Amino acid sequence: MICKECYSDKPRVTPLLKPEDCLKNHTQYICSTCGRCICIESDEKRDVYRWNFPFKTLEIAKLYLKTAEVICQDVCGIYEIIGKNDRISYKIFHTEEDLENYLSKNKDKKCEDKKPVYISEQYVESPNAQIRKLSDEEIKDYLREQNQFKI
Ligand SMILES: [Zn+2]
Ligand SMILES: [Zn+2]
Repeated sequence: MICKECYSDKPRVTPLLKPEDCLKNHTQYICSTCGRCICIESDEKRDVYRWNFPFKTLEIAKLYLKTAEVICQDVCGIYEIIGKNDRISYKIFHTEEDLENYLSKNKDKKCEDKKPVYISEQYVESPNAQIRKLSDEEIKDYLREQNQFKI
């Protein structure tokens, strides 16, 4: 079942890479519905979050969509970006203006119809969600669950 809060049916799928490092060192959005942790750490100098980076697939971009919405306090769209050699990636933007801005600074990138390939119907704030670092104990439990379920 797809989690209504964080849009994934895999409650321990994230962090995808080096999960232990991410959970230890980065602030997480902890889904109050399924418990999934989503990295919401920002690079302070540049104000760049994980969700600002390009994703290889739409599915992976969806895993981070909630953190974009939480930061923007609004719905955000996932756009298909065509780069050099027609390489496709997916990026999350708050508004179409943000997309235009990005495209104007990255002349080698294109977005065909400039409409999101995915967007939530509305932004729903989840009052019980927490944004914080996990305790050592929580990290241990989470990693164990990640290994157990391979989900
Ligand atoms: Zn992280
Ligand atoms: Zn969830």
